[in-house]
Amino acid sequence: MVNNDAMLGPDPEDAELAGDLRSIVSDYPHCDPALTLSICADRLDDDPTGDERAGLIVILNATCWYAASGRIGTAKVLEGMTAALVAARTGLAANGGPGSGSGPGPGPGCGHAPGEHPQVGDDREYDVTTGAQLLSPGGRAAYERKRDGEYGDPPLDGWLCPAFLAELADEAVDRLREGLQELFGERETGHLDKRYLRSDGRVDIPRLTRTIRRRFRSDEDSAEAGLWAARRWMAGEGASEDRLGLFLAVCSCVFEWHEGMPRTFFREIEAAVKTVDLAPLGMPCAHEHQAGAHPWAVANRLDRGAGAFAAVNAIYAPEDFEAPGGPFALEEWNCPKQAAELAEAAIADFADWRNMRGDDEDDEKWE
Ligand SMILES: [Zn+2]
Ligand SMILES: [Zn+2]
Repeated sequence: MVNNDAMLGPDPEDAELAGDLRSIVSDYPHCDPALTLSICADRLDDDPTGDERAGLIVILNATCWYAASGRIGTAKVLEGMTAALVAARTGLAANGGPGSGSGPGPGPGCGHAPGEHPQVGDDREYDVTTGAQLLSPGGRAAYERKRDGEYGDPPLDGWLCPAFLAELADEAVDRLREGLQELFGERETGHLDKRYLRSDGRVDIPRLTRTIRRRFRSDEDSAEAGLWAARRWMAGEGASEDRLGLFLAVCSCVFEWHEGMPRTFFREIEAAVKTVDLAPLGMPCAHEHQAGAHPWAVANRLDRGAGAFAAVNAIYAPEDFEAPGGPFALEEWNCPKQAAELAEAAIADFADWRNMRGDDEDDEKWE
């Protein structure tokens, strides 16, 4: 006995998916967003011209900002979404979407007048809910039955229009590609030489650490300053006296980014920090009369947050800065055990960052 109501309703699994997607776009996910979005991308990629195409394009368009926001730690999720949308987009051009050369003149080129396509982006919970309904014939029938034109539910044929879907796919692909570049792409830092190098070629350590610290001014400037310092430190460029300041700036940048920085910045910073020899951690040093007696730890303990920055600046501009608990001798700053302590703390942070964002080894291909 066929149950007509069930046949005409949305698939229960799609209704569950709609709930997961609403939790993602409202930014309180009760699912694993990376997994949920990958599954949607795979469904589209498996059959990019199939019956689920419209629903999945609507879903991926409504969730691409989330994927591109840095909340997902692996590039492969964004790459999977992009590839699926590109595949679907190719099929749309072939059957009446923009690029097919079949446009009848004014309007979007599909027979709909301007403004007749659904308005998306204002209410993403609505968008993903509708997208999930579009996935099955039963869901689409349910949408049409419940559609309330007065409250702005657009006709079903607008959601299914190839020109409309092509626009959504293009928009999402652009956003995802931007996100991939911003979050995982290669960063240019050469232009920062003139910002952080003085006219005598020495590094302006106070300026560098100030930018790192002032994330409220610009997160990007802060992370870029850390990356610039890491690259310069690794390359061994400039005055040898600057190397200590560069290393300390790199560490301070890591500690300033409690929640983790995008991979585009941190993969090289991590690689730099991991070159530090950790062997001194297990050995005594000349400053062991008390635990945590190295300059960084002392200054940080006395003025949590600001102390270490002031102490680092005091090495290079003692007339302008005072080291809490100091002054410290350069020999204390240069102790290999302190370097190892800072590297160890930074390495623990990197592990936390990866953990928080479901990062995995697959992204190592970027290195
Ligand atoms: Zn249309
Ligand atoms: Zn020491």
